[in-house]
Amino acid sequence: MTEQYKGRVGQVKEVTSLANPIVKDIKALMNKKAREETGSFIAEGLKLIIDALELGWTIRTLIYSKAAKGKPLVEKVAAKTVASGGLVLEVSEKVMASIVRRDNPQMVAGVFEQRWRPLADVKPQKGETYVALDRVRDPGNLGTIIRTADAVGASGVILVGDCTDPFAVETVRATMGSVFAMPVSRATVDEFIAWRKGAGVNVVATHLAGSVDYRTVDYAQKPVVVLMGNEQSGLPEELATKADTRVRIPQEGRADSLNLAIATAVMLYEARRHLLKLDRG
Ligand code: SAM
Repeated sequence: MTEQYKGRVGQVKEVTSLANPIVKDIKALMNKKAREETGSFIAEGLKLIIDALELGWTIRTLIYSKAAKGKPLVEKVAAKTVASGGLVLEVSEKVMASIVRRDNPQMVAGVFEQRWRPLADVKPQKGETYVALDRVRDPGNLGTIIRTADAVGASGVILVGDCTDPFAVETVRATMGSVFAMPVSRATVDEFIAWRKGAGVNVVATHLAGSVDYRTVDYAQKPVVVLMGNEQSGLPEELATKADTRVRIPQEGRADSLNLAIATAVMLYEARRHLLKLDRG
């Protein structure tokens, strides 16, 4: 048992009942309304929680199943949680499964405070790349994009219009932890357009009707914002016309478009290849 944790064990609550009010509050975080009202969300997995704490995220509640009791790393995160004023719950596997709504759940989960980076604070610098997503609907797509943006060294993701919640449990799962590393901002269409005017960025919109091959753009001159359209309807004119360039990723075969997350990955690797020379290893 870690020194820091000694004497604080009394602050660990044991919970075996699904009717426990704290458990009910945590389970409510599966719903967007409760996440918004409390400004919190659930993340699962010990490694992810350790990374989040290292990156300075605030944990409100640590939940671990009985099978994880006594494991040194679990004790360490429990100590950190208590030290920062959070609550630690030791729960039965049944309670853990009901919190995260899956069979064979991870042994550890955490309730964290949400973090949004205000768009006004986003001041792109040369060499930086951002992704702006118009009304992204699918949590798996958003999570995959956040993970990919992290992997290519992008500087942030901007959600434009009515997007799916980056703090939904499915999205957080799909980010594989990158939700803690990648700053996320949100804006209305008007706010985004106003921001881009003063941000000194090159907005590269992807559009099936784009006339420019995405490989011919100069991604190095200014900071780049790759602008991606909604899964069903693509990019609306009001956004597409505000971009500096409208590019198309060439396709052959019968598919009429690429999946949004795949198209974003193709764009990000191209943009970062020019900036970071990833192709040179
Ligand atoms: N039916 C939609 C349309 O007409 O645009 C398809 C949307 S597609 C599934 C989602 C987004 O991925 C598009 O708005 C665009 O940003 C990007 N995308 C997919 N395939 C693309 C391609 N070949 N060239 C450029 N962008 C593409």
